[in-house]
Amino acid sequence: MIMRGKKGVILGIANKKSIAYGIAKACQEQGAEVAITFLNERFERKLAPVAEELECADRFYPCDVSRPEEIKALKESIERDMGQIDFIVHSIAFAPKEGLSGRFYDISKEAFDIAMDISVYSLIEIVRELKPILSDNSSVLTLTYYGGVKYIPNYNLMGIAKATLEMTTKYLAEDLGRDGIRVNAISAGPIKTLAAAGIGEFSFMLKWNSAHSPLKRNVTIKDVGNSGMYLLSDLSAGVTGEIHYVDGGFNIMGMPAVEINEDGKQVIAWNGEPK
Ligand code: NAP
Repeated sequence: MIMRGKKGVILGIANKKSIAYGIAKACQEQGAEVAITFLNERFERKLAPVAEELECADRFYPCDVSRPEEIKALKESIERDMGQIDFIVHSIAFAPKEGLSGRFYDISKEAFDIAMDISVYSLIEIVRELKPILSDNSSVLTLTYYGGVKYIPNYNLMGIAKATLEMTTKYLAEDLGRDGIRVNAISAGPIKTLAAAGIGEFSFMLKWNSAHSPLKRNVTIKDVGNSGMYLLSDLSAGVTGEIHYVDGGFNIMGMPAVEINEDGKQVIAWNGEPK
C-alpha cells in the first residue's frame, strides 16, 4: 500500500472518464484518503455516486476555481475534516470554444483571460491557499499536454495555457521546494474525456497518436492514474519541477515511423489509416 497514511484533495473529476478519476482511483486503491470537489449543484448530483465509490462522501466539497472565495472555503473544509494533507491534484482546464478551433489570431482577450485564469492561475491560487495545511513532505500534481510545447492543430488557446502551466509548475517547484512541497506535471497523451470533446478534430488526434507513438496505442486514465500516484507518493521523493510524459512515447518522435510489410510495402499511411 504505497499511499497508506497519505491524505489529499483531487480537483477535476467531471465523471468516471476524467483523468482525475483515474488518479483518485489509483491513490485510493493504494491506501490514500482522498477528498474530491465538484463545480456546481448539477455536478454534485452527478458525482455523488463517485464520491461514495471513492469512500469520500463526507469529504466532497464545492469548488469553482474561478471564485476565490470557494478556494478559501475549500481550505477551511479540508482543515476541519482532514487536518493536514499530503497532496493536491489540479486536473482542471477550460477555454471558451472559440479558442479551440479556427484561426488562432482571432482569439479574443476575454477568451484568453478566461483560459489563463481557470487553467493556469488556479494552480497558483490553490497552492497558495492550501499551503498552510500542506504537510512538510507534500506533493502537488497538475495535468498538461504536448500542445503546450509544439503546435497541435486546433489546440490553439489551450496550447498557450499549457505552455504557461508548465513554466508555472517549474517556478512553483523552485519556490516551494524549501517548504518540502514538490510540484510536478504529467503531460498525458490524448484521452477521450469531456474536456477533450471540445477540441476540434479530437478523434483524428487519437488516431494519429496511436499510429505514431512507440507503444502504438493511446494511453488510458489508468496509465495516467498510476503515474500520477507515483508522483504523489514518496517513491518520487527526489522529483520536482518535472513534466513527466505519459503518452506512449509520442513526444520522442521527430517523424512518424513507417511500417513495412513482408512485401516491402508501407502499411501505415501518414494519417494512421490502414493502407
Ligand atoms: P474532464 O474530465 O472534462 O476534466 C476537466 C475538469 O476541469 C472537469 O472536472 C471540469 O469541471 C473542471 N473545471 C473546468 N472549469 C472549472 C472551474 N471553473 N472550476 C473547477 N473545475 C473546473 O477532462 P480531462 O481530460 O480529465 O481533463 C483534466 C486535465 O487533463 C485538464 O487540465 C486537461 O487539459 C488535461 N489533459 C487532458 C488530456 C486529454 O486528452 N483528455 C490530455 C492531456 C492533458 P466540470 O466538468 O464540472 O465543468
